[in-house]
Amino acid sequence: MVRHTVDPVKCRGCGKCVEMCGLELWTLVDTDNGKKRAQVIEEAKDMCHMCLACRDACPEEAITITED
Ligand code: SF4
Ligand code: SF4
Repeated sequence: MVRHTVDPVKCRGCGKCVEMCGLELWTLVDTDNGKKRAQVIEEAKDMCHMCLACRDACPEEAITITED
């Protein structure tokens, strides 16, 4: 199973990860402080093929992807 982790401090909601994933596995959600944050959709753990495009696109290095 692939796990996608977003560092909530680093992520500034720019949406680059959303743009880069060809499988559309990312979305932006509203946070309590009025900002946006990246989040993977539930299907991501099954569909993600670990191309790492989302991780590499993140200017804040907020995304970690692992497989277990
Ligand atoms: S690793 Fe690739 S397929 Fe998986 S969520 Fe990121 S961009 Fe999408
Ligand atoms: S690219 Fe990085 S900073 Fe931008 S929304 Fe995605 S995780 Fe957040």
